[in-house]
Amino acid sequence: MVFSDILKTSPLSRLETEILLGFLLKKNREFLLTHPETTITPGLFKNFQTLTKKRLAGWSIAVLTGEKEFYGRKFTVDKNVLVPRPETELLVEEVWRTVYNEPSDADFFIADIGTGSGAIIISLALEFFQKDKKRFNNIQFRGIDISARALKIAAKNAAYHKQVRNIKFFQGNLLEPLINRSDWPNLLNDNLLIAANLPYLTPQQVNSSPSIKKEPRLALVAGPDGLKYYRQLFRQVAVICQDKEASPKRKVVLFCEIDPDQTKSIKALAKKILPAGSIVIKKDLANHNRLAVISC
Ligand code: GLN
Repeated sequence: MVFSDILKTSPLSRLETEILLGFLLKKNREFLLTHPETTITPGLFKNFQTLTKKRLAGWSIAVLTGEKEFYGRKFTVDKNVLVPRPETELLVEEVWRTVYNEPSDADFFIADIGTGSGAIIISLALEFFQKDKKRFNNIQFRGIDISARALKIAAKNAAYHKQVRNIKFFQGNLLEPLINRSDWPNLLNDNLLIAANLPYLTPQQVNSSPSIKKEPRLALVAGPDGLKYYRQLFRQVAVICQDKEASPKRKVVLFCEIDPDQTKSIKALAKKILPAGSIVIKKDLANHNRLAVISC
């Protein structure tokens, strides 16, 4: 059997067929496009059928191939982490911009809460490492997740992108592992940036969305209004901000990815729990409200 025969019979789209076969053959899509006569051995065809079945059962292409591109780089993923989404690149960009709006010798502590595959914090570390070593050296990068299985993937990704010596990962609930350890920003000097792509969907949203039903619910569902974890995080931040009077120049900024439907409710929540903070909503490339930036 050759590649062009499979294209004719595959129940998957041409794109997905090419990606999965390319993955099994360890060749890129361009190779398959230019070599339709590539032989597909019976063993390989069997593996392709197994992947096809899983794809039809709802597993994502990213989990089947074990990788996903985010912010121009490859990340390992598996069933224990949320597959990084293109719209989350906005969060990386806004954190980057915030750092750049400060003097180049400013100290930063960037905490990625619910780091999952580590894609956000590793992308940030790599961007600074590759583009501005001076700033890189003034930043502490931290990734936190409640799931030990997710942290294994994050550590694997950090090891693969090996320059990232300034990243540390911790297991625990939101900011707790940082607050309870001595590994905490210098409260007088470091600006604290909190990047959070926490679970923000309701159980109904997840149940009615076949494309995400195989992704970890732990990374997606956040109570009846989808704000359960942001509520907890805001309360932790409120406590941190009490210390701010001693260091008025220090910045504490939260970057929370949201569902566009949460625009009003996240504003109300911030107003209630972080009344001194100001909130700005940013849109993603699809023009959907996607990020709440709260400066306290
Ligand atoms: N944006 C994701 C989705 O809709 C949800 C991510 C999350 O809950 N953090 O699939």
